[in-house]
Amino acid sequence: MSEQDQHHVDRDEEATFSINRRRFLQGSSGALLAAGALGPAFAHAAASGEGSARSGGRQASNGQEFDFGNGATAPEGVSSVPASATGRPMPDLEQYDPVAPDERLGWAVVGLGDFALNQILPAFGNSTHSRLAGVVSGNADKARQVAQQYGVADSGIYSYDNFDEISDNDDIDIVYIILPNALHEEFTVRAAQAGKHVLCEKPMAPSVEACQRMIEACRDNDRKLMIAYREQFEPHNLAAIKAIRDGMVGDVNLLSVNTGVSLDPEEPSAQWRLNKALAGGGSLYDIGIYALNASRYLLGEEPTQVFARIHSREDDPRFAQVEDNVAFQLIFPNGAVANCTSSYSTPKNNEASVFGTKAWLRMAPLSNYYNHWLIVDDGNQRIEPSIQEIDQFAAEMDHLSRCVQDDTAPHASGEEGMQDVRIIRAIYESAATGEMVSIESDYERDPNLLITDSPNLPDVWQQSDS
Ligand code: NDP
Repeated sequence: MSEQDQHHVDRDEEATFSINRRRFLQGSSGALLAAGALGPAFAHAAASGEGSARSGGRQASNGQEFDFGNGATAPEGVSSVPASATGRPMPDLEQYDPVAPDERLGWAVVGLGDFALNQILPAFGNSTHSRLAGVVSGNADKARQVAQQYGVADSGIYSYDNFDEISDNDDIDIVYIILPNALHEEFTVRAAQAGKHVLCEKPMAPSVEACQRMIEACRDNDRKLMIAYREQFEPHNLAAIKAIRDGMVGDVNLLSVNTGVSLDPEEPSAQWRLNKALAGGGSLYDIGIYALNASRYLLGEEPTQVFARIHSREDDPRFAQVEDNVAFQLIFPNGAVANCTSSYSTPKNNEASVFGTKAWLRMAPLSNYYNHWLIVDDGNQRIEPSIQEIDQFAAEMDHLSRCVQDDTAPHASGEEGMQDVRIIRAIYESAATGEMVSIESDYERDPNLLITDSPNLPDVWQQSDS
């Protein structure tokens, strides 16, 4: 083996080690697992705390103090700090710089389901410009309980029937719609007519026509409309976009983006997803949209053609109304091809690989709630940047709050949401006809929009170069 080959092997081993170590440290039981791998004696020490500094490694049993200082004159700041309890300067704020509650915009969340309660409401705790001021639900007991848990006043609780009275509530500026897909249109229109700005969950709506009506309602009422593409604020995804735009991977010719989850029809959140009238479609609308949207923002271009196949097993009653497996190809103007899949019959997965002439880039997962992972590999060297996770839900909500406060356009506009729905309809048409389908659209977005002045873009590539 040449010295160069040996070097490559060493680099690969180093890279593999660093990945394993990072994943390992992310696990909650890391310490004990590590100890287990290093042998039973160490495992025992880790579990019992023996040998740690805390267990008294440096403090003598008779209380005698040891001084390991070297006797030099300490810097001014070190010697002048009082030994008694005292106030200290404001630390540098790494991630959160919250404004006072009365300067934040008030939000009402519509639909208190799985996603709203497990991800979105807790995220208000990490937001800097948004606060929860209202809840809207068809279940009055649940609404009261949640309002109590989050300190929402009784005057901020609404049902679907009296939702329009929200127009009288000056404490609420923005309405976040987290309902089944087919209900997004009705509540976006009602919210805009009530004078509220709107964040609407993906997919925007089942049809392009419904998306158009939502855009018009917000425009007619001079309200902002944003679609909740949280991954467009997620730092690993932003770092990937930056790497591609900066030419780190060369010219991109191929992408492979896959999404899957296994739906249990006993779960309430799966029941509407398997009902066409509420979901609009199956795995493609629900999770294939992540593959579609990521292909578009990673390449920074709009596909011009699609080709697709759809397959659902005939003996699986879950798919009486909506599709299970979808394989679709997006063809981009420069010739690049994205091969994408979505499925409701596989253990949870979502991942993206981008193949360029100089390197390939991989995100696995691509768009989970947490625990993202990004690598770039040029065949010889692998870079795995260290990127801190953020609360992407808080980041997207704060983005819209800032857009309202500064009167700027949200990154993920209604037109951005409508473009995905337009392409989804073309994918269905291709699967139904067996033909390649052209996408008729003049939608375009600045390919650098998501990474220009983004507070969530990590400064990792310079760090890796140095
Ligand atoms: P759930 O089924 O868990 O919650 C939906 C809620 O909508 C219900 O709890 C109910 O709230 C309300 N609702 C009103 N009418 C109906 C109806 N006819 N059938 C069912 N529910 C109804 O769904 P999810 O929270 O998983 O999904 C909601 C939306 O959020 C979807 O658009 C989905 O695509 C999106 N989503 C986005 C994610 C992301 O990462 N961006 C992740 C997960 C979902 P109540 O009881 O309060 O009236």
